[in-house]
Amino acid sequence: MNIDTITICGGGNASHAMIPIIRNHFSGKINLFLPFGDEAHHFQKLINDKKFLTATIGGKKVYGRPDKVGKLAKAVCKEADLILMPLPAFAHEQTLLQIAPFLKEEATIGAIPARSGFEYAALKILKEHKKEKVKIFGMQTLPWTCRIKEYAIRVDILGKKGSVGMAAFPHEITFELITFLSRILDLKIEPLPNMLTLTLANVGQIIHPGIMYGLFKGKEHITYQKETIPLFYQGVTEEITKTLKAMSDEILGLTKRIKILNSDVNLEHVMSLKDWLIYSYEDSIADKSTLQSCFNTNSAYQGLHAPVKKENDFYLPDFQARYLTEDVPFGLIVIKSIAQLAEVKTPVIDGIISTISQWIGKEYIKGDILVGKDIRDTRIPQNYGMTHLEEIIVY
Ligand code: NAD
Repeated sequence: MNIDTITICGGGNASHAMIPIIRNHFSGKINLFLPFGDEAHHFQKLINDKKFLTATIGGKKVYGRPDKVGKLAKAVCKEADLILMPLPAFAHEQTLLQIAPFLKEEATIGAIPARSGFEYAALKILKEHKKEKVKIFGMQTLPWTCRIKEYAIRVDILGKKGSVGMAAFPHEITFELITFLSRILDLKIEPLPNMLTLTLANVGQIIHPGIMYGLFKGKEHITYQKETIPLFYQGVTEEITKTLKAMSDEILGLTKRIKILNSDVNLEHVMSLKDWLIYSYEDSIADKSTLQSCFNTNSAYQGLHAPVKKENDFYLPDFQARYLTEDVPFGLIVIKSIAQLAEVKTPVIDGIISTISQWIGKEYIKGDILVGKDIRDTRIPQNYGMTHLEEIIVY
């Protein structure tokens, strides 16, 4: 795998963390693709002034800057051997559409994190642009918890996962790509056998909508003072744990059913939520005895609050938060659509989709079927012409 130029897409928290980390482990060229709004101009101006971006990790500092920043894909993507998309899932498709015409035939492009169904959108767009040779990959989660402190100047990396799963298509490139990515991201990466595992093992689609549902169902109009805003992970109660476990069990039931229908597909990496938390946060969970304690005593989750928005002197639950607008249409709904293809019932997930759809002003589900008018904006396989389970398990 010959990688001389890497292009990073987007100017969010994750891209800020990635630039100095990669710079410290990669001597080739790093480009930054910022098509969104005025970001390219803004970033370029600030980095020219400050010279480099600093990431703080624990007591350590790492520095870096992109070699080239651009608003147009032609300027920063056409020479790239590897394109990384550390973006919210709702930006994947529009970003891919801009990049696809300029991709080198032998390029590799991946989403970090992939969320669910990334391959359906990516492979369709690449095919439409006659770039079928381009390879794709996805990571199960973002490796870091990170927040921009000053745009283009400083980012804090608050936590790092012990290991992150990754799948690629074609599957044969997985190991070589992992060798390269582990080095430049300074990360342990676990190979996953297929992209379907990424979708079924996307834990964000359980944790984020599940906890939001548990915290705010029936309390939609609750108001908080700054000091009473609930903690998100440390606020997980016994009742919320039951919901999260039921969601995780439904996904494990779906996984089992897919394996019965297709004995060749390897889904052994799809874990229960509790097993995943222990696997990913081995060293930061003080009490691993229950699912609830895995949330409440995880130091990587310490002090993070539920998403709220300020209104006058109060704070209200923020129903436009990423935890809902990303993890439902690019997560839970993809699971539900696969469950429909496999004829598996998911009553707990259905109820959560139904409630959250109302919160975010969308119509996805009627009864227990995904037929709402806004389903066209989600990443279900049916939207990409795949209507049989056999069509999605090959990736
Ligand atoms: P972010 O909100 O900081 O990213 C925003 C950036 O994405 C923008 O600056 C822009 O460059 C790009 N963007 C947003 N909307 C766009 C659009 N419509 N078109 C094109 N570009 C657009 O997000 P983040 O915190 O960097 O997170 C990236 C991904 O990682 C998300 O999937 C997020 O859920 C996940 N994640 C983040 C964290 C974290 O600690 N930041 C932790 C776990 C997972």
